[in-house]
Amino acid sequence: MSNLQPPASLAADLGDAPVLHVAHDPDTGLPWPDPTVPEPEFVSLAQFIFEAAADATDGCLVEPDGICRHGHPSWLLRLGVI
Ligand SMILES: [Zn+2]
Repeated sequence: MSNLQPPASLAADLGDAPVLHVAHDPDTGLPWPDPTVPEPEFVSLAQFIFEAAADATDGCLVEPDGICRHGHPSWLLRLGVI
Protein backbone atom coordinates (compact mmCIF):
# COMPACT_ATOMS: atom_id res chain seq x y z
CA MET A 1 0.00 0.00 0.00
CA SER A 2 3.01 2.29 0.30
CA ASN A 3 2.68 3.20 -3.36
CA LEU A 4 -0.66 4.85 -2.57
CA GLN A 5 0.90 7.44 -0.30
CA PRO A 6 1.01 10.95 -1.75
CA PRO A 7 4.33 12.71 -2.07
CA ALA A 8 5.42 14.28 1.19
CA SER A 9 5.33 17.75 -0.31
CA LEU A 10 1.73 17.28 -1.39
CA ALA A 11 0.71 16.03 2.04
CA ALA A 12 2.39 19.02 3.63
CA ASP A 13 0.65 21.39 1.26
CA LEU A 14 -2.80 19.99 1.93
CA GLY A 15 -2.46 18.93 5.54
CA ASP A 16 -2.10 22.17 7.44
CA ALA A 17 -3.52 25.57 6.65
CA PRO A 18 -6.68 25.92 4.58
CA VAL A 19 -5.90 25.64 0.90
CA LEU A 20 -6.44 28.77 -1.14
CA HIS A 21 -8.57 28.18 -4.18
CA VAL A 22 -7.35 28.98 -7.65
CA ALA A 23 -10.24 31.01 -9.00
CA HIS A 24 -9.01 31.55 -12.55
CA ASP A 25 -7.77 29.30 -15.31
CA PRO A 26 -4.00 29.93 -15.28
CA ASP A 27 -3.84 29.38 -19.04
CA THR A 28 -6.64 31.66 -20.17
CA GLY A 29 -7.02 33.96 -17.16
CA LEU A 30 -10.76 33.40 -17.30
CA PRO A 31 -12.58 32.86 -14.01
CA TRP A 32 -13.82 29.39 -13.17
CA PRO A 33 -17.39 28.94 -11.93
CA ASP A 34 -17.87 28.66 -8.20
CA PRO A 35 -17.92 25.07 -6.93
CA THR A 36 -21.38 23.55 -6.64
CA VAL A 37 -20.32 20.57 -4.53
CA PRO A 38 -18.43 20.48 -1.21
CA GLU A 39 -14.65 20.44 -1.30
CA PRO A 40 -13.42 16.83 -1.10
CA GLU A 41 -11.43 15.46 1.80
CA PHE A 42 -7.68 15.22 1.35
CA VAL A 43 -7.88 11.44 0.99
CA SER A 44 -10.21 11.91 -1.97
CA LEU A 45 -7.80 14.34 -3.59
CA ALA A 46 -5.01 11.79 -3.24
CA GLN A 47 -7.24 9.14 -4.81
CA PHE A 48 -7.94 11.44 -7.73
CA ILE A 49 -4.23 11.59 -8.50
CA PHE A 50 -3.63 7.86 -8.26
CA GLU A 51 -6.78 6.84 -10.09
CA ALA A 52 -6.13 9.40 -12.85
CA ALA A 53 -9.72 10.59 -12.56
CA ALA A 54 -11.05 13.44 -10.48
CA ASP A 55 -14.28 15.14 -9.50
CA ALA A 56 -14.84 18.55 -11.01
CA THR A 57 -16.16 21.32 -8.79
CA ASP A 58 -19.69 20.52 -9.98
CA GLY A 59 -19.33 16.78 -9.40
CA CYS A 60 -18.54 15.71 -12.98
CA LEU A 61 -15.81 13.12 -13.50
CA VAL A 62 -12.82 14.57 -15.34
CA GLU A 63 -9.13 13.93 -15.79
CA PRO A 64 -7.02 15.16 -12.82
CA ASP A 65 -6.02 18.27 -14.79
CA GLY A 66 -9.25 18.44 -16.75
CA ILE A 67 -12.21 20.75 -17.02
CA CYS A 68 -15.72 19.38 -17.47
CA ARG A 69 -18.14 20.27 -20.26
CA HIS A 70 -19.75 22.84 -17.97
CA GLY A 71 -16.50 24.71 -17.45
CA HIS A 72 -15.80 23.44 -13.93
CA PRO A 73 -12.15 22.45 -13.28
CA SER A 74 -11.13 19.37 -11.35
CA TRP A 75 -10.70 19.96 -7.62
CA LEU A 76 -6.98 19.38 -8.12
CA LEU A 77 -6.81 22.39 -10.41
CA ARG A 78 -9.13 24.43 -8.22
CA LEU A 79 -6.98 23.81 -5.17
CA GLY A 80 -3.73 24.38 -7.04
CA VAL A 81 -2.49 20.84 -6.43
CA ILE A 82 -1.46 20.33 -10.03
ZN1 LIG B 1 -19.81 19.53 -15.17
